[in-house]
Amino acid sequence: MSACPVPVYVDTRKVFTQRGKVAGFVSLERLGRFRECLASETGTVQVELQFDTSDTGLRIIWGHLQAQVTVLCQRCLEPLVIALQDDIKLALLKDEAEVASLDEAYDPWICADTKLLLADLIEEQLMLCLPIVSVHEPAECSRQSGYVAGAGTGAESPAKNGTVNPFAVLKSLKESD
Ligand SMILES: [Zn+2]
Repeated sequence: MSACPVPVYVDTRKVFTQRGKVAGFVSLERLGRFRECLASETGTVQVELQFDTSDTGLRIIWGHLQAQVTVLCQRCLEPLVIALQDDIKLALLKDEAEVASLDEAYDPWICADTKLLLADLIEEQLMLCLPIVSVHEPAECSRQSGYVAGAGTGAESPAKNGTVNPFAVLKSLKESD
């Protein structure tokens, strides 16, 4: 994959007729909304996009994205690196009214501007493929189901100074009743 950042925007008046291609990375700094879902600022997002016109005259954007980002494991609340990948198959529409007549093979992307902002489009696709719940593999999770917190091997995820497991706090509150 390319080591270049993808451009900020493509010109919709040219990119489809010229069958333009974009390949490269997008830094997480450009993906503010997506970054809010992550547990770390470090990660990679790579995309390949191809712009074309379909037989029926639709302006289509197709390609692929892959990303490696860090979220919180919903079981142990420790960082978890996950890989995301998705195929992109969009049709560029000018307004909502065009959605009704859109071929089901494409998802709509609405943009009336001549500048199609790529980070917006990529961010939306990333949000869509982000799992609702992410957990470590059982062997790698520091909270083993069926074990008392703190009694696991802890080999993979030593507790960090200052971090408090809210479930452990809740448990100790209940026990002190
Ligand atoms: Zn975990």
